[in-house]
Amino acid sequence: MDNHLLAKYAQVAGADVVDQLQQLAKPLKDAHIVHINSTRYGGGVAEILHSLVPLKKALGLNVTWEVISGEEAFFHVTKSMHNALQGFPTVVSQRELKTYEETNAREAERLRPLLEEADFVFIHDPQPAPLLHFTPNRKGKWIWRCHIDLSRPFRPVWRYLRNLVVEYDASIFSMPDFSQPLPHLQYIIPPSIDPLTKKNRELPPKDIEEVFNHFGLDPDLPTILQVSRFDRFKDPLGVIRAARLAKKFVLFQLVLAGGGAADDPEGEAVLKEVQSAAAGDPHVHVLYLPPDAHITINALQRAADVVIQKSLKEGFGLTVTEALWKGKPVIGGAVGGIKIQVVDHHTGFLVHTPEGAALRIRYLLFYKDKREEMGRKAHLFVRENFLITRHLRDYLSLLMALKLGVHERIELVT
Ligand code: UDP
Repeated sequence: MDNHLLAKYAQVAGADVVDQLQQLAKPLKDAHIVHINSTRYGGGVAEILHSLVPLKKALGLNVTWEVISGEEAFFHVTKSMHNALQGFPTVVSQRELKTYEETNAREAERLRPLLEEADFVFIHDPQPAPLLHFTPNRKGKWIWRCHIDLSRPFRPVWRYLRNLVVEYDASIFSMPDFSQPLPHLQYIIPPSIDPLTKKNRELPPKDIEEVFNHFGLDPDLPTILQVSRFDRFKDPLGVIRAARLAKKFVLFQLVLAGGGAADDPEGEAVLKEVQSAAAGDPHVHVLYLPPDAHITINALQRAADVVIQKSLKEGFGLTVTEALWKGKPVIGGAVGGIKIQVVDHHTGFLVHTPEGAALRIRYLLFYKDKREEMGRKAHLFVRENFLITRHLRDYLSLLMALKLGVHERIELVT
């Protein structure tokens, strides 16, 4: 048990919260818990696992995190599947599915002893979903943890994936809208952020100044920020359009900051589109960041006056919660998990169009007192609902439910 780390969490989230985690962890001490996803860096899933795994270890749990590897062709297929599952009609050919299955078969072989022996296996997202199929001699309970917005999937691709998912013992979705008819237990567990990481901890003002100097940002202008991988679902072009509309009434700089993820092959093309849309506008800054730019992102979020996340589809936007935690009002696309992250008119605004986003940018830049009031509420809302400690409490409760054979559906967060 790492009491030093636990004490740090207690300081931020409350001693009662950590105490509850210790109680829940006790009966699971002898279990081996395995997490599997498809990238070590980039994107929300990796971000969460980087915190969740050490926290589980600090509680004395036996936990392993493995990442499946694949060729470029594999990640092309899984990206197409991801787009299709989030509702974008995308045909995935038989040949592509063969690549998907063969990669998983090979990875199942590589991880065989671990997969067969583990007591609980969390499989994150569709990329490693077939591993279960290729582990016929599994001993433990397997849970499919879906992080994406599955509310209106492109049916042919979901039908295929569903055949793999039905074999699991349980699945987890980030909100009720995303769940699908499945013959096993389903849990609703929203993701979370870690208040202790470089990405989220307090920063001295000099770190923020350094980031502004480094990227040539103007400290005297209000800043509107979107942090995202360069992905069409994050609608960076819509953000630029919103900024252009708002700029007719109020002066500010827009910062679009992000990088790629190892399992996302489309990033480069989207970055080029964004760069050309921003070209020649001195008030739009497109920052391409390396995967470990945590302090840069933290500094940008803390320096921003308003954060925007105008996604068109979103499982759960960690960037939204990161910004709320830093006391920033967020203008979020009214989609997916953002609808439970942003309390409309209280911690920010939900918008449907660039025009709507422009209106809210104007409002928030104009009313400083409103901005600050929303920011205060935002921080408290995250503390109650979206910290890693709550997330882990939900996972441990789920493991207990599986271990004890509880059969009814339980919702752990309202
Ligand atoms: N992120 C990052 N670098 C980037 C872009 C994003 O570190 O260039 C982080 C971001 O701060 C957040 C996570 O990656 O913690 C993205 O999670 P989110 O759920 O917002 O989006 P996803 O990329 O998973 O769709």
